[in-house]
Amino acid sequence: MNNKLNEWLKKEITELKSRSLFKELKILESPSDGNIFIENQNIINLSSNNYLGLANHPKVKAAAIQAIQEWGVGAGAVRWLGGTMDIHHQLEKKITEWKHVEDTLVFTSGFNANSGCIPAVLSKNDVVISDELNHASIIDGVRLSSAKYRKSEGFVYRHSDMEHLEKILKNTQSFEKRMIITDGVFSMDGDIARLPEIVNLAEKHDAFVMVDDAHASGVLGKNGSGTTSHFNLYGRVDIQLGTLSKGLGVVGGYIAGSGSLKQLLINRARSFLFSTAHPPMVAGALLAALDIIQNDPTLIQTLWKNSDIWKNKLHQEGFDTMGSETPITPVYVGDEQRAQEMERLLYKEGVYALSITYPTVSLGKARIRTMPNTTHTEEDFNKAIEAFKKVRDKVG
Ligand SMILES: *Cc1c(COP(=O)(O)O)cnc(C)c1O
Repeated sequence: MNNKLNEWLKKEITELKSRSLFKELKILESPSDGNIFIENQNIINLSSNNYLGLANHPKVKAAAIQAIQEWGVGAGAVRWLGGTMDIHHQLEKKITEWKHVEDTLVFTSGFNANSGCIPAVLSKNDVVISDELNHASIIDGVRLSSAKYRKSEGFVYRHSDMEHLEKILKNTQSFEKRMIITDGVFSMDGDIARLPEIVNLAEKHDAFVMVDDAHASGVLGKNGSGTTSHFNLYGRVDIQLGTLSKGLGVVGGYIAGSGSLKQLLINRARSFLFSTAHPPMVAGALLAALDIIQNDPTLIQTLWKNSDIWKNKLHQEGFDTMGSETPITPVYVGDEQRAQEMERLLYKEGVYALSITYPTVSLGKARIRTMPNTTHTEEDFNKAIEAFKKVRDKVG
């Protein structure tokens, strides 16, 4: 190995460790469910985005196996070079109906959908106006575009601050196109974007809106179809992104919108053009997952019921969930080192919940992020709250 590289790697790792920012992978020894095995121990999993338990659902697994039997294990090519099978096409049709849009394009991940779509719809005379708490994959997509976007130039608004957003809209009238982009559900705080106001402002100032519904897909709106449905804004959100990897339990991302949007993305989105299509089993599993959430409303009801049970237990014990409105439930700690210590002690008590610290969230706003889902039982929540109390007493 090259010495310069090796030394540099070691130096960077030492620095990450010294700043308490170093991450290591935990190895699951069982499927992703409410209870998992890690290091031979049964642990309550409060870290997963598998909101509806579809990642290990018997019908979804059966559909994936069926798709392998019919279509093989690989698509063989990128989508536009013979890698689009009928099963991929069926998936896009099903998402289009579910979302009530004209058309949909599936990408291999939500991250790829952001990094492909955003630069494709913008050119150098455009500007992106962003919420300051937008997800990393939005930020990377924006950075890849030739539009103006920088916070230092005044194009980032304070979190959900509509007056600030309008001020920026008034200051950016000279740009050709203006895109407002926001998370639908904010991934670290669990609050919902003020989408009706954002859409009104966009219409008033002739801008367009892109919403990233990664944490709203399968969670909010009719049959979990997202924030546009939740707020009844059909036809008024220009670009909707969602993931197939969280609530839907498998993997993938999509852009839902107009037919012309899809056509342009097929031609211009680089993460779509230059990366192989999903294995057909992914599309098969997702068709089954969508079938389930469209025909069984009890799943999403259970998610929200469990989320209420967990939040109530936390509130009863005096924990602060930071204004969360969705199953994403941050538990406020504040100090970074204390949050990390809590994570470590919770794990020892049999609860897997991760601390989220700077730079993912602002300095002094460290938290433990908990994600209740349909696969948890009341007993899991009882055990988890006891662990939280015990650990709080230890950490102070
Ligand atoms: C998770 C997430 C993504 C990325 O989705 P993947 O399908 O996991 O790549 C994009 N945006 C937001 C807001 C997310 O939370």
